[in-house]
Amino acid sequence: MYDPQGVTTSSALHVPQQMRAWVLGGPDELLLRDKPTPVPKRAEVLVRVDAVAICATDLEIIHRGSPASIQGGLPFNKNFTPGHEYMGTVAALGFNVDEFKIGERVTVEIHAGCNQCKRCRQGMYTSCLNYGKPEKGHRANGFSTDGGFAEYAVNHINTLIRVPDTMSDPEATLVVTAGTSMYGLTELGGLVAGESVVVIGPGPIGLLAVAVAKALGAGPVVLTGTRDKRLAIGKELGADRVINVTRENPVDVVKQLTGGIGADYVIECAGSEQTIDQAIHMTNRGGKICLAAFPHERVMTDIAHVVRNNIYVYGIRGEGKSATHRAMELMAEKRFDATRIHTHTFPLADLPIALRYARERIEDAIKVVVTNRQAGAISSAAE
Ligand SMILES: [Zn+2]
Ligand SMILES: [Zn+2]
Repeated sequence: MYDPQGVTTSSALHVPQQMRAWVLGGPDELLLRDKPTPVPKRAEVLVRVDAVAICATDLEIIHRGSPASIQGGLPFNKNFTPGHEYMGTVAALGFNVDEFKIGERVTVEIHAGCNQCKRCRQGMYTSCLNYGKPEKGHRANGFSTDGGFAEYAVNHINTLIRVPDTMSDPEATLVVTAGTSMYGLTELGGLVAGESVVVIGPGPIGLLAVAVAKALGAGPVVLTGTRDKRLAIGKELGADRVINVTRENPVDVVKQLTGGIGADYVIECAGSEQTIDQAIHMTNRGGKICLAAFPHERVMTDIAHVVRNNIYVYGIRGEGKSATHRAMELMAEKRFDATRIHTHTFPLADLPIALRYARERIEDAIKVVVTNRQAGAISSAAE
């Protein structure tokens, strides 16, 4: 029986002592294993994982290791469970936790900072100076601590967001993606109404950046990319104009749309040398660029243009400053339909197939979600 010292459990929600969890072996090797169900400490809860979305960063971690880091090194063969975009049900409470109740539906942020370094004290817990040091209280589930491709995970209470009954499990897994887009806009200045915004790259973060920018009153909102199907989804999510860069020059079109001066904010979600160069040349004087993608190679670009035009460039990591809570408010109010990017669902036991769909974009997959709903567990989620 699962009954660790100091942990509150409930007979309404049975927690086993051992759980099924996918663990990362070598590169591209995932194994379904039994692991002890983890134990929440002070200010932490045990979450029964009900659904997990697959992120491009998961594919990156499973293939290359980075940007995950376990014990200061690559995450291979360390019994590490990836997966960071999950939601579920509070299943047990750590010592003295009264902020949440067992049975509540929650979705999660990735990063719990150490809460004691300079950056955490500034609210920048995704840039915690004790990143990757769980002994200091830092967690980045699915990156430096165990994540959600499992039946259970431990989360700091600061990383939990309540899910309204009107929101489905798959939609709730998308809150952290929208939160990442929201954090980019927060860091660029926050007051988005009336600003012209260009989003480069219609991946999940780019598409939800369009939706969040539009919901916050930006105008015009422009999306660039190469695939018409994805650009069409961007239009449904609020883009005023989409640009297929295989047919139109995005810098020229953005200038035309902005009276010749360029955009106030550009959110770069593609991460190539070419798109970063486009971002620089479509931003207006004094405008701001959010770099939200991880380029694989070093990038040569026109820094002189950045300096001459007083352009601000922000590297953005994760979903800081409680942006996920703000994204949830917009989604709970149905200000945009994030489920437009959810394309496929598989059971957690079929994770390797789900990962293949995401990696190879089979059937135009965008967000692939794996679900973990056990028989008999469904009723508690409705409480
Ligand atoms: Zn992600
Ligand atoms: Zn910190």
